Amino acid sequence: MIEMDCTCSQKHHSIPTEVIEVSENAIEKVADILKDYHRIFMVADEHTYEVAGRRVETLLKEAGNLSHTLVLEAPALPNAESIGKVLIEAGRDREVYDINAWSLNPDYILAVGSGSINDTCRMVSYRLGIPYGVVGTAPSMDGYASVVAPLLNGRKKLVYNCTIARHIIIDLGINQAAPYPLLLSGVGDMIGKYVAILDWEISRDLTGEYYCQQIADMVIKATDQCIQASAGLEGRSLDAIRSTSEGLILSGQCIAYCGSSRPASGTEHMIGQTWEVMDVEEGKVPNLHGIEVGEGVFVAIELFRKLYRETEDKYLKGMIEKYLPAFERIEALQQVIKIPFTVTDEERFVEGILRGRTFRKRFTILQYLHAQGILEEYARDVYPKVMSKYFFQTFKERFPDWEA
Ligand SMILES: [Zn+2]
Ligand SMILES: [Zn+2]
Repeated sequence: MIEMDCTCSQKHHSIPTEVIEVSENAIEKVADILKDYHRIFMVADEHTYEVAGRRVETLLKEAGNLSHTLVLEAPALPNAESIGKVLIEAGRDREVYDINAWSLNPDYILAVGSGSINDTCRMVSYRLGIPYGVVGTAPSMDGYASVVAPLLNGRKKLVYNCTIARHIIIDLGINQAAPYPLLLSGVGDMIGKYVAILDWEISRDLTGEYYCQQIADMVIKATDQCIQASAGLEGRSLDAIRSTSEGLILSGQCIAYCGSSRPASGTEHMIGQTWEVMDVEEGKVPNLHGIEVGEGVFVAIELFRKLYRETEDKYLKGMIEKYLPAFERIEALQQVIKIPFTVTDEERFVEGILRGRTFRKRFTILQYLHAQGILEEYARDVYPKVMSKYFFQTFKERFPDWEA
C-alpha cells in the first residue's frame, strides 16, 4: 500500500498498489515482484506479446507461477468483446470435467500492455475479485493507478469503477521503443492537468467542492516534469521516457488518492472524450485518448484566455492569471512536438464543446460559460484561433498507417 497523511478533509490518502517499478530492465524483475502469486493469468495482444509478453511469459513459467496466457488480436479495444474474451479464458478446465466444481481460476491477472489491455484486465479483475497488475508497454495514458476505466459498451463509452493495479512495472527500454503516436498520446493526456487543476480550484471556490492542495501540487509537479521532458520524446531520450512514464503514473496515483479523476480531468477531458464518444456513436473506432484530449487542451486554454480578457470578475481574472505562464509553456511545446488533430471541422469542434459540458457531472469552465449564456459564442470564437495557433496536421496525415 502507498499512502500519505494530508492536511485536507480526507486527512489520509492511500492506494492498494504495492510496487511501482520504473527502470531500464524492469521486466526482468517480474517473477520476483509477483512471487506471492502462483496461478498468474497473463493477457496481452499480438503487439504487446511481441514486445514484452513473450519474455514475461518465459520468466513466469521458469518461476512456476504462470497459469496460462491469452493473446488478444491486435488492435484490442477496451470493449465488451475483449472483456468477454478475457473472462471466458480466465479459468481453465480440470483434466477431468467435474460437474460439482468450478473451473480452475487464476489468483492474479497480469496485463501486458497499456490503455486497452490495462482497462480490460482491471474490469475482469474487479468482477472476479482477483488482484491484477500491469507491465506497461507505452507511456500513453495515466490510467495505471486509476480507480476507473472508460469502456466501450455498444455505441457508448462509459466509465466504470475498477480495481487499482497492485503492481505497476514499466520497463523503460520497452517504453522507449513504443510507437510515436502512443508517446504523443501520453503527452496529450498530461498537458491538460493545468486546466484540470484550474477547473478544480474554481469549483472549490464557486461550488464548495472538496479540494486537496497536496494532491493538486503533486499533479502540477508531475505535469511540469513531463512538459520539460516532452521535447526529448521524438529523439526517444531515456530521461524523457522516464519523466513521462513517472508523470503519468503519479497522475493516476493522485486520481486514486482523491477517489475520483478530478485532479487529472477537467474541461480538456470533457471535450476530448466527447469527441471520442461521437466516434463511437458513429460506429467508428475512437482515436487515441491522449490525442483527443491534447486537442481539447488547446481549446480549453483559448476559452480561459478569452474569459481572462473579457471578464469583469476580479476573482476569476486572478485565478486564470496564475495559470497563464503554464498555458504559454504548452503553446510553446506544441510548436515543437505538434500533436496532430483529429477534429478540424467547425461543427464537430463546437459540438464537442457544447456536449462536453455535460459529459459528466463536473463543474468546469464550460458550465460557467453556459450559465452566463455565452458558451456557444465562445466555442465559435476560439475555433479559428485554435486552428491557426495549434493545428499542423491531422492525425491521419501524420500517421497514415496507424490502425487504432
Ligand atoms: Zn489531501
Ligand atoms: Zn486522460
